[in-house]
Amino acid sequence: MSDARVAIVGGGAAGLVAAIASARAGACVTLLEAGSRVGRKILASGNGRCNLTNTAAAPDAYNAPGFVAPVLAEFPCEAVVAFFRDLGLLTYADDEGRVYPVTNAANSVLDVLRLECALLGVEERFGFEAARIERSDDGFIVRSREGGASQAGAVIVASGGGASVLESLGHAREPLWPVLVPLATDTRSIRGLSGVRVRCAGHILDSTGARVASERGELLFRDYGVSGIMILDLSRVALPGLTLSLDFFPDIDPAGMERLLSERIDRLGWRSAGTFFSGMLHTRIAQAVLRVAEVPLDTPATSLDAPALARLLKDFSLPITGTGDPAQAQVTRGGARLDGFDPATMESRLAPGVFAAGEVLDVDGRCGGFNLHWAWTSGIVAGRGAAARAAEPAA
Ligand SMILES: Cc1cc2nc3c(=O)[nH]c(=O)nc-3n(C[C@H](O)[C@H](O)[C@H](O)COP(=O)(O)OP(=O)(O)OC[C@H]3O[C@@H](n4cnc5c(N)ncnc54)[C@H](O)[C@@H]3O)c2cc1C
Repeated sequence: MSDARVAIVGGGAAGLVAAIASARAGACVTLLEAGSRVGRKILASGNGRCNLTNTAAAPDAYNAPGFVAPVLAEFPCEAVVAFFRDLGLLTYADDEGRVYPVTNAANSVLDVLRLECALLGVEERFGFEAARIERSDDGFIVRSREGGASQAGAVIVASGGGASVLESLGHAREPLWPVLVPLATDTRSIRGLSGVRVRCAGHILDSTGARVASERGELLFRDYGVSGIMILDLSRVALPGLTLSLDFFPDIDPAGMERLLSERIDRLGWRSAGTFFSGMLHTRIAQAVLRVAEVPLDTPATSLDAPALARLLKDFSLPITGTGDPAQAQVTRGGARLDGFDPATMESRLAPGVFAAGEVLDVDGRCGGFNLHWAWTSGIVAGRGAAARAAEPAA
């Protein structure tokens, strides 16, 4: 058996792949998992289908492009697909570049990772909630809350979003904040819209009206605000106090919108306001727009104010009040500060021999497979680095 011992805190996506990479590099690996099973979030990912990477995986999909760049350069999407193919997992990409297992079942992803860990002799310890990491003569001791201990020449912390044992080594943490989450908004203007879906553009505006971020896609109105993939992506910058501006006709410019409504008034002037938008806008959205414009539904269409309605269709404002349901957040922004780690190796600058991977670091990406891509690839880098460190003779 190898003398190079690597302990990994956390049996999620990053920890499992780090375990495989470390063991393949010759280390004797112990996976320390607080829960009673590994890969819980993998099973929940992608609505149970696990969107494991994206063909467009690139640094600008993340909050810290400079930090993720070296890892993504070494491991683009094809490298992740090849890594999993090697484990026996077949995948396909959809029209938007999202990569899924051909089985469309997240448990296939977890199964191949667990089978490889078993083949490589990775030891799994469950119910081990790491509380701190201490330096020892021959490396480190990871101590659990329950009084357990695990000795290793190198440690990888892959404990996901939230506070972590890295703090016991002096690593600072950026504030934690749920992202990739539905948004709560002022609901007065969207009363009655819950359950309605619409394809549109969304812009996050600051207090001066400047655009902070924009996305297009399908939006779902909810009792508390809005959800949908475009909203999850906007949630990465959508703080309370900012405004979500919806553009229901993003392919038509403001002048064109006004022209279209004027022509419609000319042609369909016999209609009432309540039916004026029939054929161009979901009935309930049309009613919400008219309510905000303070136009009674029985107003003759000939009396409608085309410029004012055109403005509302292209800038339907919803003040953001918070997150819809933090429990639904896919990712936690914040975590261990990146200046404490070497982006080429994921090794701690404060405690050489300790590595970090995945969401425990202050890295988050867009919706669409980018977060798991980071977990796998940072896990491989940390796993290899830790195996090499653990193999070095003790100083
Ligand atoms: C509902 C949902 C859907 C998602 N869908 C997708 C998707 O389709 N595509 C995508 O790219 N991303 C998706 N994500 C995000 C993705 O799952 C995460 O980015 C990824 O799982 C992070 O991996 P990780 O290994 O860093 O952390 P985790 O997967 O959170 O794993 C951390 C592990 O560490 C353990 N742990 C924590 N603290 C300790 C401790 N002190 N001691 C020991 N063990 C500890 C935890 O129990 C856990 O098993 C989704 C997330 C959610 C919640």
